[in-house]
Amino acid sequence: MTAISNYINGALTPSVDQEYLDLFDPSTGKAYAKVPNSNLKDVELAIEAAEEAFASWSKSSIDQRSAFLTKLADLIDANLEKLAIAESLDNGKPVWLAKKVDIPRASANLRFYAHAITQFASISHKMVDAINFTLRQPLGVVATISPWNLPLYLFTWKIAPALAAGNTVIAKPSEVTPMSAYLLSKLCIEAGLPKGALNIVHGDGIRVGKELTKHPKIKAISFTGSTRVGQEIAKTAAPVFKKTSLELGGKNPNLIFADCDYDKMLTYTLRSSFANQGQICLCGSRIFVERKIYDRFKKDFVQRTQSMKVGHPSDPESKLGSIVSKPHYDKILSYIALAKQEGGHILTGGHAVHPKGYEEGWYIAPTIIENLPYDCRTNQEEIFGPVVSIMPFDTEEEVLRYANSTMYGLSSTIWTQNLSRAHRLAEQIHAGIVWINTWLHRDLRTPFGGVKNSGVGREGGFEALRFFTEPKNVCIQY
Ligand code: NAD
Repeated sequence: MTAISNYINGALTPSVDQEYLDLFDPSTGKAYAKVPNSNLKDVELAIEAAEEAFASWSKSSIDQRSAFLTKLADLIDANLEKLAIAESLDNGKPVWLAKKVDIPRASANLRFYAHAITQFASISHKMVDAINFTLRQPLGVVATISPWNLPLYLFTWKIAPALAAGNTVIAKPSEVTPMSAYLLSKLCIEAGLPKGALNIVHGDGIRVGKELTKHPKIKAISFTGSTRVGQEIAKTAAPVFKKTSLELGGKNPNLIFADCDYDKMLTYTLRSSFANQGQICLCGSRIFVERKIYDRFKKDFVQRTQSMKVGHPSDPESKLGSIVSKPHYDKILSYIALAKQEGGHILTGGHAVHPKGYEEGWYIAPTIIENLPYDCRTNQEEIFGPVVSIMPFDTEEEVLRYANSTMYGLSSTIWTQNLSRAHRLAEQIHAGIVWINTWLHRDLRTPFGGVKNSGVGREGGFEALRFFTEPKNVCIQY
């Protein structure tokens, strides 16, 4: 079985103690490769390399750093097919989706920050007798920790601004989906990225993630993942005053009003419910529909959902592939059981699927539940799978109360043609991102992140460059 390796000091490096975790192909439920379960020794090697590289990387010109990021982006594009297949094999997402979204977005992230850094400027404050300017300096060695749902997409979303700003980086991809990051390490070698600028250490969260979080030489942690782990990272990082950016879970509401563009809303709601098997932090899992159109919506939404094929990720007809891992598959099925206990009525789905030839894989039918109160556990806790609940409402005040009732506040989607209502709700909704008459329409310049238990800090645009730099006030008296 193939064993992948870490990428430290510009070279593919086996973990010191040679301990490994199995990597599974979720479409068959079988182990297909091994990933190092690194430990403090590997983290120390990576830190040593990153510290050594910092002096020259942080002093390299913006043009030089931009050129490396652009070269890496070009290599990702040139390897689109290979990376998409690897991503799908690890994660279970349809290959067509990885090809259309995940991998192009990974190169777009690198290209975006290759440009953004050339436009990143600081402000000055003039006094009668002096001038202040803000010097923005890289932090040093920083760490990024990313999840399994959009592996290369989120991995590059973090390393790109960190490197562009002049930091050296230790990146930990999810141990569940490390393959595309491993392939990226080979592309870094091909691109001639200076040794130690980027180091990739594989392993599980309680070893590598924890060591990175508590290590005094790591100046900042950029984390995307669950709220539970975000809390642990915050607890560990706080006493040593380590900078953290935390992008966490969500339980996003869709607010659908009777005056919306119905056909567009239906198509988008299907996507926002089940894209990537519902495993996108921005998926809308609580769907509130104005009572006037509730029955029509229910009928059409169920019908369209039933026409979505669940099948092997390599089949271009599969709209949903497999669920990323056995523990996650079990978790989703347990939430469907909970929904039934809570009085939920399953309108469609609600069960595992066993495609012919792949009976041992982890597949779940897209599931729509109704008849649940807005405040039950199914409607309050993040399931992170192809499971949504639909609920009717009568007034704007009522739906706003439902929408804001969870501990999360990542994104929200409002469907209405009434501009005044759209603005009113956008202001009052608890969310870092509000989409009106669209979903997942992303401009990489915008601030990205959540409120309440969905996170602390913002990524995207200059926000990430601010996170990865320390502002220093310099005052010069004439
Ligand atoms: P997770 O929190 O289990 O793991 C995320 C990463 O953290 C992994 O690399 C893991 O190894 C590491 N980790 C685990 N324990 C750790 C610890 N104690 N210390 C340091 N690192 C540790 O999340 P997941 O299951 O991989 O991903 C799904 C979650 O991510 C969902 O909650 C989803 O909403 C969230 N997510 C959020 C966003 C966002 O932008 N807000 C985007 C994607 C996913």
